[in-house]
Amino acid sequence: MSHSTLEPPLNLVRPSQPFAATVLENGDLTPASADDVRHVVLDLTGSGLRYLDGQALGVVPPGVDAAGKPHRLRQYSIASPRDGDDGAGCTVSLTVKRVVYANEAGDEVRGVCSNHLADARPGDRVMVCGPFGKHFMMPTEPVGPLLMIATGTGIAPFRAFLRQRARGASVTPAFLVFGVRTSADLLYLDELRGLLDGPDDRLVLAISREQTNASGGRMYVGDRLVELGDTLAPLLRDQRLHVYQCGLKGMEAGVEAACQALLAPLDVDFAALKPELVKARRWLVDTY
Ligand code: NAP
Repeated sequence: MSHSTLEPPLNLVRPSQPFAATVLENGDLTPASADDVRHVVLDLTGSGLRYLDGQALGVVPPGVDAAGKPHRLRQYSIASPRDGDDGAGCTVSLTVKRVVYANEAGDEVRGVCSNHLADARPGDRVMVCGPFGKHFMMPTEPVGPLLMIATGTGIAPFRAFLRQRARGASVTPAFLVFGVRTSADLLYLDELRGLLDGPDDRLVLAISREQTNASGGRMYVGDRLVELGDTLAPLLRDQRLHVYQCGLKGMEAGVEAACQALLAPLDVDFAALKPELVKARRWLVDTY
């Protein structure tokens, strides 16, 4: 059986009995940015935990919360393809943004789990469980074009998809529209360029605080979709197209408005088309 026809494995390691994974790598993806985003690679050897690209990993931070209860688990989109970055099948990679912000009283708040992961050094242990998620998966064969739209760390599953695509013989055309604040926040850029080098592939960047849209506002992924107009409109009508969105919830409205605008001249009502795409699992969203 080919990998593409496998059902996603679920809950192989339960949250009640998480596995102590060893940190293999913790790389700085944004050395020139004010934000700190890390590529964290964990060793799963001996856990029995397997996953498919597009799934999420549970991480249980150490310690207890303000009420004295163990911290709840957090889910992170997996950034590695199913056999791991090294292809050996024993690792999982995460894209982790260190969460630090000031609360209403002006005190600094540090996200419990993101800081645990961002501070982890090779050899440290991280308690993991999962995998989770069975909807945000690459389509099975035969595969039509993929339109992937990411904001920020929402790039993680698309890195996994593209690395998995590169391992197979598939020539599925892939479009990636990737939105970040500044050029220093572009995650995996060189790698993504290398993965999107097919004749029908496109990598389009929306760098919101350095580029402006047609109205003079911040350049967002939806604005870039509109610009892709003539290329994208026929794709949106392709019966095999799969559209994926991952990242900030706010991006969805702009993406939908762009699709509406692109399809209207073709006499297609996106409001009517979208439920069909959702039903056919060709419109897949993983945002928060
Ligand atoms: P970020 O840096 O805050 O934002 C990324 C880009 O999105 C910026 O260019 C930002 O522009 C832009 N943006 C903000 N509002 C937008 C809107 N309404 N439409 C289009 N673009 C918009 O992102 P981040 O801190 O990496 O956060 C990514 C989010 O994705 C987090 O909330 C994370 O929890 C979530 N996430 C979800 C998943 C998942 O669902 N599986 C996986 C990974 C991450 P400006 O800030 O310049 O306005």
